[in-house]
Amino acid sequence: MFSKEMWSLGANRSVIRDLFEYGLRQAAIVGPENVYDYSLGNPSIPSPQAVNDAVVEILRDTDSVKVHGYTSAIGDFETRKAIAEDLNGRYHAGIRPENLFICCGAAPGLIAILRALAAKAQAEFVAIAPYFPEYKPFATCAGGKLVVVPADTEHFQVNLEALEAALTPNTQAVIVNSPNNPAGTVYTAETLTALGQLLTRKGEEYGHPIYILADEPYRELVYDGVEVPFIPNLYRNTIVCYSYSKSLSLPGERIGYICVPDAAEDSEALYAAIAGAARAGGHVCAPSLWQKVIARCAHLRPDLQAYDRNRKALRDGLGEMGYCMASPDGAFYLFIQAPNGDDVAFSEMAKEKNLLIVPGTGFGCPGWFRICYCVSYDMIQRSLPVFRELMERCQ
Ligand code: PLP
Repeated sequence: MFSKEMWSLGANRSVIRDLFEYGLRQAAIVGPENVYDYSLGNPSIPSPQAVNDAVVEILRDTDSVKVHGYTSAIGDFETRKAIAEDLNGRYHAGIRPENLFICCGAAPGLIAILRALAAKAQAEFVAIAPYFPEYKPFATCAGGKLVVVPADTEHFQVNLEALEAALTPNTQAVIVNSPNNPAGTVYTAETLTALGQLLTRKGEEYGHPIYILADEPYRELVYDGVEVPFIPNLYRNTIVCYSYSKSLSLPGERIGYICVPDAAEDSEALYAAIAGAARAGGHVCAPSLWQKVIARCAHLRPDLQAYDRNRKALRDGLGEMGYCMASPDGAFYLFIQAPNGDDVAFSEMAKEKNLLIVPGTGFGCPGWFRICYCVSYDMIQRSLPVFRELMERCQ
């Protein structure tokens, strides 16, 4: 006997993983140069040299317990201190090391927060479409329910009217992911302030706070001088979940943090509940070596030139062919309207040409598709004629 829910999650690969595996098989048949794989968001820019230098330097220490031993469950003090200093230097946020919990990347961080907030049996978590599909299993396995707010397909900001309609007395948190996967858009300070005002009003009405869960693995990936507001400065009941997977190109190393600022209601108890949820899930004491790297490298930012070049080549190339897309201000995704109006059928047509794109339906936004541009510039150039041919077929 085992859980049907867990079996289904394990037995059925995600659409993205399926596409990626398909791409590998096709590459063996038609040659890798004839497959244009835009499926998976695997960072392609190298980690900053200082990260690799820090690893080498830390490993020179022969005190194995110091380097590889268990750290404190919530993370090394030095790591939390370095992160707090970085946040305060950038956002004057008044963050203390005690507000930070070091986690194994964003995914287990999100799960710990959702489990900590799933105080009642009908706990509801709101996601704003288009949204990262893993929120659904994260929310349900935490014992809650994911409620989806339809996308604002005009600006890819937040449809506040629809969001208000989705709130109930069971709403515990609204998940805010900006820069957004899959849309590539950044929520403006104006949008987030209005969202904060709405949540303050509804929280007062319901008699409990509605937290914003700010899922921010793409915080540092922005272009053309676009600013990503630090949400705790705009809405006090914000919990931040951050990851170095994308910002320092370290997705396989599993390192990030949760920040529960003092200003959040019940801050200390909330922090304890998150630490407890991480403990119950076995996600404490994040990788020791990588905590030490972050203690030295928390202030580093990625060199985005390669992503920006790709972004511009696709934005301009596809725009000129007539494709409409969300404003590509951040992350490494373009979210594009399917020219035939049917994202699934269009993605199938593309797949026949070995162009691998992800239908928006899985992100809660049918009619659109996602491409991930952490790929080679050369692949982009080779893929453009295929995009053109597909557009011509739809006209
Ligand atoms: N949240 C979003 C929006 C993501 O796109 C991802 C990964 O792609 C994650 C969370 C999980 O990130 P991590 O690798 O840090 O677990």
